[in-house]
Amino acid sequence: MPFLKAGTASKDKTVKKYKPKMATMLKSQNDRIVDRYREYFNLKADNIPIYEVDILIDYILPDIEDGIIKTETVPMHTSGIQKGIEDINDIAKVSVDASLGNIAVAQALNNIGLQVTRVNSSTKVFLRRIVLKGIADGDGVLAISDKIKDAGVNEYYKGRALAIARTETRKAYDEGGKIAFTDLGVEKFDVVGCVGTLVGTTYGSRTETYGACGLLGLPMIRWDEISGKHHINHAGTQTATLIPLDE
Ligand SMILES: [Zn+2]
Repeated sequence: MPFLKAGTASKDKTVKKYKPKMATMLKSQNDRIVDRYREYFNLKADNIPIYEVDILIDYILPDIEDGIIKTETVPMHTSGIQKGIEDINDIAKVSVDASLGNIAVAQALNNIGLQVTRVNSSTKVFLRRIVLKGIADGDGVLAISDKIKDAGVNEYYKGRALAIARTETRKAYDEGGKIAFTDLGVEKFDVVGCVGTLVGTTYGSRTETYGACGLLGLPMIRWDEISGKHHINHAGTQTATLIPLDE
């Protein structure tokens, strides 16, 4: 399966390049969050009334952050989409347009850009948890501010920048694959490269797999639905069932 092999190599390259950029992105956002937090309380060392938590969270992580994360992930998404197309071009000896001049590429870029704002939704959940725990622990405004800052420095959880780079690169690469395969008239696809060994939990001789991993011959119309529901750390590639990619 040359496309699977190419896909793994391409995605690894993109993830390696963009992981540090995702770490920087999270760090800068956390700096802005802490600034807004201080602005909100104007550095009073009072307690935070619990009824204010949701208002506070919306204030420190406002909607403009969705536009920022969308913009900041454009280079990574573009790289992933284009590699997905170029790998198929190389393997199938075709020449699907991978440039942003291809409307399908531009649309795919916009779609995954809208989806990446989910990262901010998760950050809001983390922030809410930190603030509520601080309140429960009797922390004042300043102590909670420090905890938000510490959590941000630590990416909210260990390895988050890498997890974001992996997930977004995988999604972008799959978008590229969809564009090229649709262009080539492919009708069915397989989900390969993520069965058992990478994510499965082995119970004796039985290996549990997750979601759509390993499913074969799915209709192209299900491409987006399947790509959107892979588990965390899914390493597989969605690839044509029938196009003569195997040499
Ligand atoms: Zn998987």
